[in-house]
Amino acid sequence: MTSFSSKQPLVLILLGPPGTGKGTQAKLLEEKLHLPHISTGDLFREHIQKQTELGVKAKTYINAGLLVPDELVLNMLLKRVEKADCAKGYILDGFPRTIPQAEALQSFLENTCTLLIVNLALSDAKIIERLSNRVVCEQCGAPYHLLYSPPRVTGTCDKCQGTLIQRPDDTEEVIKKRLQVYHNQTAPLIAFYSKNHLLQTIDCTSDKQEVFKQLLLLLV
Ligand code: AMP
Repeated sequence: MTSFSSKQPLVLILLGPPGTGKGTQAKLLEEKLHLPHISTGDLFREHIQKQTELGVKAKTYINAGLLVPDELVLNMLLKRVEKADCAKGYILDGFPRTIPQAEALQSFLENTCTLLIVNLALSDAKIIERLSNRVVCEQCGAPYHLLYSPPRVTGTCDKCQGTLIQRPDDTEEVIKKRLQVYHNQTAPLIAFYSKNHLLQTIDCTSDKQEVFKQLLLLLV
């Protein structure tokens, strides 16, 4: 069990391969802890939608299943976490994804925050099955699984009636590339954070409520 001091801001990092439900858990935690959920993937998708210079650059990498270069990610992320709503802490989803990103975050935080890293673990086979059946709302980003949690009306978001689409990086070919990238570039973060005993692992095979229960147990 990890206890954290309420005096310092809490930075909670959700680590793990794509498709483990980091975004879903981060949203549940955001409501429970009243800390902002910061997803670098969502930030990039906003830039892509607005066709900003960063969005145009990032799109090529994202659609190929590759990581966006560290420098671009770091500029965007550090600007975001300096905003006032992050003063009491924040939940990171999809960042860091490389050792240099983790090192840059450490020097940015300089022991001013309590860090908690939770590794959400799931087998590659399960990830491929989940992501290739995932559709998301174009408008609000809500995810659905076509077999296990389908929308009430096919193609329409239950929450905002937006159109459901398959993310361009959720095709089987790109999912396999993303997994390869995860194993090569992101999985080494497990050893990086384990060294300082900051990391806890949760098996994400069970449903989202069960995973959430286990996450909350780590926060008491
Ligand atoms: P996600 O929504 O977290 O699965 O992210 C979608 C895509 O955005 C990833 O496959 C990467 O191409 C890019 N991305 C998101 N976060 C990062 C990051 N921390 N470093 C590099 N690329 C990232």
